[in-house]
Amino acid sequence: MTARAPWTLDALERACRKVLTERSSLKLKALPLSRSADCEWVEPDGHARMRVDPHEVGLRTGVVHELLHVALNDTLSAFDEDMAEEIICAFEVRLNTRIALSKRRVAWWRKAVSGKLKK
Ligand SMILES: [Zn+2]
Repeated sequence: MTARAPWTLDALERACRKVLTERSSLKLKALPLSRSADCEWVEPDGHARMRVDPHEVGLRTGVVHELLHVALNDTLSAFDEDMAEEIICAFEVRLNTRIALSKRRVAWWRKAVSGKLKK
């Protein structure tokens, strides 16, 4: 097994895009209190089912958060749930800022996320 290259913000966005386009579904749904989005997948590399409550969190923010969980699942397995959540939240901010600063990126994410909602 070869070690994977270190994560960069660029690689992280690419991995999230890949999960979104290749193996996830997305639903808008009212979720229980304290939860604004969630995601479940049956097998480690299998299909990821994301749900976002649009009254509680921004659509792209919620989606990016859940995609990070999927994309970083292996990498974060060394951390307990609370610590992994903190790491994800930090990357969520970084990644959303990166996207928001680029018209091209905003457009890609808008299209990809709305495409998922139409299915
Ligand atoms: Zn989370």
